[in-house]
Amino acid sequence: MFDETYLSLIEERVFKDTILKKEAGASIVGVYCAFTPKELIAAAGAIPVALCSGTNQAIPAAEAHLPRNLCPLIKASYGHALNDSCPYFHMADFLLADATCDGKKKMFELLADIKPLSMLQLPQTAETPESYSYWLQELYRVRALLEKRTGVAITDKNLLVQIRIYNALRTTICEVFELNKGEVPLLYGHEIDCITSMAGFECNLQTRIAEMHQAIATARLRSNNSSFVKKMRHRPRILLTGCPSTNKKVVKLIENNGGVIVAMETCGGLKTAGFTVKEEGNPMESLARRYLDTACACMSPNHRRIDILRNLVSDYRVDGVIELTWEGCHTYNIEAFHIEKAVTEQFQRPYLHITTDYSDNDTGQLKTRVEAFLELLS
Ligand code: SF4
Ligand code: SF4
Repeated sequence: MFDETYLSLIEERVFKDTILKKEAGASIVGVYCAFTPKELIAAAGAIPVALCSGTNQAIPAAEAHLPRNLCPLIKASYGHALNDSCPYFHMADFLLADATCDGKKKMFELLADIKPLSMLQLPQTAETPESYSYWLQELYRVRALLEKRTGVAITDKNLLVQIRIYNALRTTICEVFELNKGEVPLLYGHEIDCITSMAGFECNLQTRIAEMHQAIATARLRSNNSSFVKKMRHRPRILLTGCPSTNKKVVKLIENNGGVIVAMETCGGLKTAGFTVKEEGNPMESLARRYLDTACACMSPNHRRIDILRNLVSDYRVDGVIELTWEGCHTYNIEAFHIEKAVTEQFQRPYLHITTDYSDNDTGQLKTRVEAFLELLS
């Protein structure tokens, strides 16, 4: 029901809407990370588009400039830029890129030769008052930069309007996930991806939110469908965590082999949608706090991620946790040590760590490991 066909209809609409807005004069701003405060971009009348890529096809071109043993997400995103094979990259007037992991920030130096690019300089910890003040100043700098590039003054009033819209989007994404909190999950993880996926590109967020509400209403009807309930009831419930699941091969492996991903602690999933921006007080301060608290492994330490996982394991009745790390992602790969300990010792759940890339080279071997893990949970 919420499959490739469903997704392509939404993709088509979003693409058309973006072209219309661009033709009407809106700037398109390419972004690469969950730390980018999209509300600031939207308050300047511009459209943020998420350019992190999940396709393997773009990687060979990137490897002409980048090391082969780099994270596939970085290589694929750069490869699209090099090949001019992503229509959203093509349309982007300029890029706003966050200095997160080493691979990404050094790739951005190369990317700046292809398209105008400004860096958002992140602190390395969210836990000190100094890092918060630094980040707040950085957001003020980005606000001025956006105003200069777009020629639009960002008022606090407009910013608050965008904060409210983006909060509504986050809340709606959470409502989609919440369909899986009950005894019988109502959505597969790959369906949640389809329902929520274009939120990173959307210039008509109200329309996107309405589409998601429609999907929620349709999915709710499944609880009256006895064959669906029977099919779902005994599937092991998986919490997916780790790197952004830009490429869907691991999601497919889990669900094609009998599991159901009930929740995702990833960017675009509940790591980001689960937290709103405060709507009272100074909007810049509220944005700075909310974005700095993103539980990314690039931050050191990153205790919030374990707190989020603890809540998700209990709220979503999780049977087992699968961690996805893209090859070459040192931050998530190293943090996996503490995540495994927390999952197995504190939350008392089985844990599986998968390290892979976007290719199909290891699919057979991964299938065996995933099957064995799901078997253990049945
Ligand atoms: S995992 Fe970290 S670096 Fe990657 S998109 Fe999320 S916040 Fe950004
Ligand atoms: S997955 Fe890891 S290495 Fe790749 S861009 Fe994100 S944080 Fe960087």
